[in-house]
Amino acid sequence: MIVKFWGVRGSVPSGDRSTAGVGGNTTCVEIRCGDELIIIDSGTGIRNLGESLLKQMPVKARILFSHVHWDHIQGFPFFKPLYVKGNEFDIYAGTCLPTPIEEVLKQQMSPPCFPVKTDVLAARIKYHDIRPGDVIYGRNYRVTLTNLVHPNGSYAYRVESNGRSLVFATDTEHHKDKLNQNLAGLARRADLLIYDAQYTDDEYNGTNGHFPKVGWGHSTMLEGVKLAQECQVKKLILFHHDPSHDDDFIRSIEMECRKRFANSIAAYEGLVVDLDTSEMPRSLFD
Ligand SMILES: [Zn+2]
Ligand SMILES: [Zn+2]
Repeated sequence: MIVKFWGVRGSVPSGDRSTAGVGGNTTCVEIRCGDELIIIDSGTGIRNLGESLLKQMPVKARILFSHVHWDHIQGFPFFKPLYVKGNEFDIYAGTCLPTPIEEVLKQQMSPPCFPVKTDVLAARIKYHDIRPGDVIYGRNYRVTLTNLVHPNGSYAYRVESNGRSLVFATDTEHHKDKLNQNLAGLARRADLLIYDAQYTDDEYNGTNGHFPKVGWGHSTMLEGVKLAQECQVKKLILFHHDPSHDDDFIRSIEMECRKRFANSIAAYEGLVVDLDTSEMPRSLFD
């Protein structure tokens, strides 16, 4: 199983020089299980993934949505393979939504907010509403999911393939004094945990000059470390970076986490993790 990160920001893209190393695109992750392709979320990072896939036509993929807040769907209309006949996509999202995923994406691509409607997408697209307890099977993998703690709901996914496992868990808020047992169960002994590390403790709690963000649906890097330790995961990826965190700040966050959990790494655009090796991927800052 090979994972590549195309968008690692949360909330809104941050396209300026100070964030250029980590990258400013919002969430999108590509997962290869043998010859099968899974994409999680279509934040603005999916645009660049689409460009790379244009060289690999025809494309057949499953797109799993954690949820449908803007930063996780905004790149969808700019994912060029959707416009190419012969490509096939199966799209999955939660029934925790008040509106089915097909309807959400149609509403996103409609006036007055967007000029092109989903009618012009030439690829074959099937929509699937899923819920915890469901299992998605590929030839080389299986996917399970659980609910996270987030306004309007969101899903964490566990992908298992060829004896390896990864858990994608954003956006989620931690409980004050106990682990989220749903998530802990899903993440148990995963080879890779990708976790919502949007805030520092000060930013979350509103201390040292920050205003509090309790109840906003996001977690902290140190809660990610705690979860990684408790669940005995092998590697922790700090993900969904706050748009105000520049490269230097993210370097300091990665260093802080490594003191507590050595196999921590801050996600950046272009990061590739090969789960068939036990080696740590290269940090942006090494
Ligand atoms: Zn988000
Ligand atoms: Zn969200």
